[in-house]
Amino acid sequence: MSSFRWLYLVDAVSIMAAAAALGIIVTMVRNSGIEMNIAYEMIAMVPPMIIAMLINTYVIMHYVRNRMDELLEGLNAVAKGDLEVTLDEQNSDEYEPIYRMFNRMVKEVRMSKENMDSFINDYSHEFKTPITSIKGFAQYLKKNGDKISGEERGKYLQIIVDESSRLTELSSNMLFLSKLEATQILTDKEEFRLDEQIRHCLIVMLPHMEKKNIDYDIDCDELSYYGNMTFLDNVWINLISNAIKYTPEGGKIVVGLKKTDEDDEYSCMAYVEDSGIGMDKDTFNHIFDKYYQARSDHGGNGIGLSIVKRIVTLHGGRIEVESAPGKGSTFKIFL
Ligand code: ADP
Repeated sequence: MSSFRWLYLVDAVSIMAAAAALGIIVTMVRNSGIEMNIAYEMIAMVPPMIIAMLINTYVIMHYVRNRMDELLEGLNAVAKGDLEVTLDEQNSDEYEPIYRMFNRMVKEVRMSKENMDSFINDYSHEFKTPITSIKGFAQYLKKNGDKISGEERGKYLQIIVDESSRLTELSSNMLFLSKLEATQILTDKEEFRLDEQIRHCLIVMLPHMEKKNIDYDIDCDELSYYGNMTFLDNVWINLISNAIKYTPEGGKIVVGLKKTDEDDEYSCMAYVEDSGIGMDKDTFNHIFDKYYQARSDHGGNGIGLSIVKRIVTLHGGRIEVESAPGKGSTFKIFL
């Protein structure tokens, strides 16, 4: 109870006020000559009031203490690593917002831990596999390099190059995301033609589309934008490469940029639409979570959309996604 010392102080002040009231009554009896029976009635009211106040204080302390104890137990459990703990919001009366926030916080921490665990599991494997194969092929070439044909040697060297690229991409994506997360204020902004940038990104990705025989369309309004060009490059490349990755052979991708109305909060809306596999509700709810991948058999590393979201947020924009399983997906970026 030591944490409620202030309530004792309130009590002490009230008792002093009651003593002062008694003093005033006695003075009034002496000086104003009020009748004794009225004075007794007034005095008799003071002790029950003090008792009622003390009981009241005790009940409040008890109630607050119980609620605080529950909260402290919860916090203690989280501090010890128990992320399954939840507080009973139903019977928490005016503590309901605090309990609700606590439950939300634990849920968020639990989800990031689960994501991080699966990331560590997946990526210790993802990192290990290419490293093992690079080491294996390098050792083989060191030992037998002069005994095998040039063609065979070239094939093994290509595997080493590809695997090294995968590792580089993974680590540079992770570093880039950390850098973006640490960035609070966008720098290196410049004015540039957004439509030209989007068109250029689509052209860069054309060879990948051709490989899968994917058709495309582009419809961009002419538009100048003031932002970080290098970061935004990443947004379009990520969205288009996802569209290619999640669209089967013979599908179609449409990329566009539209000016919004004068009075709109945003100056434009860019979109990447695909006719691919789409997403179920569960995937849809997690696509922006770091390291989340609905399926790992498509390559990638589950960081792309986290990068996209952070860049768009840094530009003061927002993302909308429409998707249904088997019906394709549309990512809309409002800037
Ligand atoms: P990844 O490297 O796995 O593509 P992202 O962060 O870019 O990581 O995407 C996260 C997840 O969102 C993907 O694993 C995939 O399940 C889903 N996703 C992203 N873009 C699309 C899309 N165009 N169509 C269907 N699913 C998508």
